[in-house]
Amino acid sequence: MKSLEVEQRQVVVIGAGPSGAIAAALLKRNGHDVLVLERQRFPRFSIGESLLSHCLDFVEEAGMLDAVKAAGFQTKHGAAFAWNERYTEFDFREKFTPGKDSTYQVQRADFDKVLADEAERQGVEIRYEEEIIAADFASERPRLSVRRLADGHEYQVECTFVLDGSGYGRVLPRLLDLELPSTFPVRRAVFTHIEDRIDDPAFDREKILITTHPEMRDVWFWTIPFSNGRCSLGVVADAKHHEGRETDLDANLKRFVAETPSLAKVLKNAVWDTPAREINGYSANVTRLHGPGYALLGNAAEFLDPVFSSGVTIAMRSASMAAGLLHRQLSGEVVDWESAFAIPLKRGVDTFRVYVEGWYDGSFQDVIYYEHASDDIRRMISSILAGYAWDEKNPYVAEPKRRLRVLAELCAQD
Ligand code: FAD
Repeated sequence: MKSLEVEQRQVVVIGAGPSGAIAAALLKRNGHDVLVLERQRFPRFSIGESLLSHCLDFVEEAGMLDAVKAAGFQTKHGAAFAWNERYTEFDFREKFTPGKDSTYQVQRADFDKVLADEAERQGVEIRYEEEIIAADFASERPRLSVRRLADGHEYQVECTFVLDGSGYGRVLPRLLDLELPSTFPVRRAVFTHIEDRIDDPAFDREKILITTHPEMRDVWFWTIPFSNGRCSLGVVADAKHHEGRETDLDANLKRFVAETPSLAKVLKNAVWDTPAREINGYSANVTRLHGPGYALLGNAAEFLDPVFSSGVTIAMRSASMAAGLLHRQLSGEVVDWESAFAIPLKRGVDTFRVYVEGWYDGSFQDVIYYEHASDDIRRMISSILAGYAWDEKNPYVAEPKRRLRVLAELCAQD
């Protein structure tokens, strides 16, 4: 590393997205010095617009719930699923696990700015347009190299602990060689925002609509209504399903929608006014979630799949857990990050993983679209869809693989 001016801090958080903002605020609330370094200027676009109820537990813990409530986002009470003539809804107000009954569908540019501004209001220092370009964990105190994007000025920060909330930037996994390929196949999401003009009275703006493609069951769409008459719309498909299709992203997305009559009907009046974008091969993993002087939060650690909108919830849960442990460590306690952070965090992530795998192999879709499921089972599934994937009292969390296999077999036989 070059010899540059070195600033001394207690905690540095990389990234001011949901994981970084929540972790930083929680540490500050416990009296610690926190510096957040964020590469972009907010507001900035981010994908991940449908939230789960459980994430509001962490927004509340960080003292930001009133600000989020005041921002006027679209209320969300659950998830609806459509496949050809089949339609089913799961309502977070009717879930097994006690907890939040509703959440929001948010334009992430606005939502992330609310959280970051709240963290600043609570005393966290955030430096925007400053990028981490190198990391040195060889000494007792980690040292990060930072570049100010406005003028290229570089400096270093030495600190006691680094929390990496850099999301798809995956700063420490890249710099410390922690990256591990995901076990999921490479999937591609093509998405846009539309003025939806939905006039179908059966359409529920308070739910995300997940639509399965009529023939290719592993291809699915999200329709996420916002509070301003607009929707986020996207299609997710394995790379092989994109072969031979339009390379133009708008044409590609429109053709997938046109092939799916129930969705085409909902969107028949939509004004397509925003160029579509894409994200390829977004699933990622790491060899470890922590090491001496650092822990990985949210997407900087692992990202599964967007189908159950679990990303922000996992990001915030990891932030809350890491901030709590780091507070104890900074207060002089010895903390075992493996048993107190990595293992319990992964337990819930692995629960989501079972249902994501079941979605793509069709077994969980058989359960979702089954018309005679008991209310009890629907409540247990609603809990998972609301983000409460760490509630071991829920049998579908405690033994996800076995329970899903048995249930899927029953649904398939009926
Ligand atoms: P981010 O939100 O990505 O924030 C990371 C921040 O770090 C960014 O602001 C970035 O600028 C900054 N940064 C990066 N590199 C550096 C650097 N070198 N130096 C300084 N700063 C840096 N999740 C949901 O909950 N609901 C959904 O509906 C949903 N849909 C999705 C759809 C798709 C197609 C995909 C791919 C994901 C979806 N997700 C969804 C997941 C969601 O996008 C992420 O899980 C979530 O944004 C993770 O939050 P984070 O705080 O970890 O990272």
